[in-house]
Amino acid sequence: MTAPMLTVEAALEHVLSAFHPLEPERIPILEALDRVLAEDVRAGEDIPPHANSSMDGYAMLAADTSGASIDHPAHLRIIGEIAAGYVPDAAVAPGTTMRIMTGAPIPPGVDAAATAAATAEAIAVVKVEDTETDGEWVNIHTEVSPGNYIRPAGEDVRQGELVLPKGTLVRSQEIGMLATLGHKEALVHRRPHVAILATGDEVVEIGQPLMPGKIRNANSYSNAAQVLKQGGVPLLLGIARDSVEDLTAKIRAGLEQDVDLFLTSGGVSVGDFDLVKDVLAAEGDIAFWRVRMKPGKPLAFGRIGGVPVLGLPGNPVSVMVSFEVFVRPAIWKMLGRTDLARPTLQATLMNEIAHKDERRHYVRVRVTERDGEIRAHLTGGQGSGILSSMVKANALAIIPEDWERAPAGSQVQVVMLD
Ligand code: AMP
Ligand code: MG
Repeated sequence: MTAPMLTVEAALEHVLSAFHPLEPERIPILEALDRVLAEDVRAGEDIPPHANSSMDGYAMLAADTSGASIDHPAHLRIIGEIAAGYVPDAAVAPGTTMRIMTGAPIPPGVDAAATAAATAEAIAVVKVEDTETDGEWVNIHTEVSPGNYIRPAGEDVRQGELVLPKGTLVRSQEIGMLATLGHKEALVHRRPHVAILATGDEVVEIGQPLMPGKIRNANSYSNAAQVLKQGGVPLLLGIARDSVEDLTAKIRAGLEQDVDLFLTSGGVSVGDFDLVKDVLAAEGDIAFWRVRMKPGKPLAFGRIGGVPVLGLPGNPVSVMVSFEVFVRPAIWKMLGRTDLARPTLQATLMNEIAHKDERRHYVRVRVTERDGEIRAHLTGGQGSGILSSMVKANALAIIPEDWERAPAGSQVQVVMLD
């Protein structure tokens, strides 16, 4: 029986339906990088907590600068200094000023009668470049409005505001915001644990002698690196021989390890020794598909004992492309991400792709920019075993199913891998 042919979208929909955001854990904010918040984060106080100066300069009642210029400076007496981190010990009254540093709290003001407090809105800061000091006195060379160079309390974030909603991807800036809000820890979805099993009598581990007929295990390592890069925790299960006994034993042993996703590579095609299919089918509820994509046509997907299993193809590029198309979004979903597609760019294809079948082709390209044009250059042979052209690539260009060929100069979508 031949496996059914599915579009990439249909296959992806089936795959993603098996995954859900994993349970949350509370961890130090730095460890939350690239994870997704599992709770809303609100501001416990205003940020900044106090009105402060955005310049090094002088604080005074704005009215005292009225009409000031280089030729007719306002002449004010310096009554003190406020450094960042300290509270002003005086108020500015008409005719007086305080030296103030960036980030320092704005001093209170008193009105002309020195009886009532002037409103904070009456104060302004003049930057030091617009002044000239003369002992205890300073000449102000410019007229400023109230609030000049003052960052009001709560200018960034207001107390009670929903700053980082649940579902936010934590990047460097979110970590800075969590720190500003006083959070040492964040509640994020935990990382998925992904088991990786290579298969094939020909495949040997790095460091083993390369006897005739053998090749080294590339797939476990490229996949493990992809798992790491996408936020998962890889668990390398080694290499299973092409025998029902060894495959069964290695798959069972791997599933005992409490994993969230089980990946195999190889053995899902139509070769005589492609036993992975048979063993997966015997162990669980697995479907075999031919996905309308190149590379990466054969794909097995299902569950064994509740654990989602993806049987990826064996060729070193196919396995990476299949990972990008199916496993990366599954990992992102388990991490709690909601937008599971990578952004694409439109680029000009610089080389012709003449050999095109009715599958969607993921073509290895190097994307560059020249004179405002984004260009995608083929990086070499597109055979599914040519890992070197994957090494030279920084993106995959997507050639749609219904194109018979892709002439140089075509506009194509590219997915950046880096
Ligand atoms: P298969 O589908 O098992 O026939 O594998 C397809 C191709 O991928 C064959 O040429 C295999 O030798 C190669 N291959 C399978 N597994 C690996 C691996 N772990 N590392 C490198 N190449 C592999
Ligand atoms: Mg094989």
